[in-house]
Amino acid sequence: MSSMERTTLNRQRPQFWRVARRCCQIAATVDIAFFGIFLALGSPILAWVNVVSVAMYAWAFYAFGRRQNALGTWLVWTEVVVHAALGSILIGWDSGFHYYLLMFIPALAVTMSARYAIVALSLLWLYYVGLYAAGLYFPPVQPISAEALIGVNIFNLSIVFAMFSYLGFFYVRTVSSASRELNRLASTDSLTLLHNRRHLTELAEAEITRAERYNKPLSVLLIDIDHFKLINDIFGHPKGDQVLQHLAKLIRLELRQHDLVGRWGGEEFLIVLPETDILTAEQVAERMRVAINGYNWRDNLKKDLSVTLSIGVSELGPNETLNRIISRADKALYISKSSGRNRVTKLNTETSL
Ligand code: GH3
Ligand code: MG
Ligand code: MG
Repeated sequence: MSSMERTTLNRQRPQFWRVARRCCQIAATVDIAFFGIFLALGSPILAWVNVVSVAMYAWAFYAFGRRQNALGTWLVWTEVVVHAALGSILIGWDSGFHYYLLMFIPALAVTMSARYAIVALSLLWLYYVGLYAAGLYFPPVQPISAEALIGVNIFNLSIVFAMFSYLGFFYVRTVSSASRELNRLASTDSLTLLHNRRHLTELAEAEITRAERYNKPLSVLLIDIDHFKLINDIFGHPKGDQVLQHLAKLIRLELRQHDLVGRWGGEEFLIVLPETDILTAEQVAERMRVAINGYNWRDNLKKDLSVTLSIGVSELGPNETLNRIISRADKALYISKSSGRNRVTKLNTETSL
């Protein structure tokens, strides 16, 4: 096995290998049943083949448990490929042991890189067709009765049906949980775990549409940490990161459940307050400013630092866009900065930009 294939194998999620392990358990159970069935049907070679199969599945089960995924995969592969051939040669193609080979089509396509998968699938196809053709020309070595053959075929068909269904459900579950995770990553700021700018913009636009439709007020707060560069310079960038993380939590504490908060830029946060007029928004901002100003950072970050916020407040006017409200909040923020920092400034709708 090439190192590239091994890497592809190891990249599978842990639950993939848990499923592989469970499949080994099921396959071993089925083969134990087959051992008894074939002894009873008078096909001792096939009966003992099943004993070897059980041993291989037990080994593969153990290997997957010890994260020896390549070894486990090869054991399962070898077992199925050899078992399909022996079943067909000994009791005939109609025994249906070849159905198990079909399980490898989705498994190969999903676990290998496209280039390797095409080669492996072509070989599998050749092998499958070859077994079928051989069955047409050579009679079974150890035939069983026609009724028993039908019974074995239906049994194999049912097991393969169940395994395909299980695999299908597993992949649907895996894909939907991966896509949920991807959505979360794409909409979250990784440092503060708040909404990122792109996602907050989407949510804020939806809130503005709602506010306009139901004729409700909506306000925004634009927050910027004062002299944050100094905090970085004095305490170091990692401490600065911790301040941002902790501040995000403190801000969240001051808000209602349905208020929106996101990281707008480096040390800037944007808050959208639905159903809130500018006077209430100003009070929220002032409460937040006072809370941060008086916060004891020593308890959490083990540093005597002081963090203050400058905040700009604005309210949605008739037919206004998100950009327009934010630029008014930005102007208000600028006034807070230029008039001494650590303060809240609101700008009413009438204010020209
Ligand atoms: P002002 O009061 O005028 O806002 O001063 P300031 O120093 O906060 O302003 P400025 O916008 O010039 O600097 C912001 C600093 O924030 C610069 C940048 O290094 C820092 N910063 C931005 N993002 C991060 C981050 O993710 N982590 C850390 N530690 N610092 C950041
Ligand atoms: Mg800034
Ligand atoms: Mg700043």
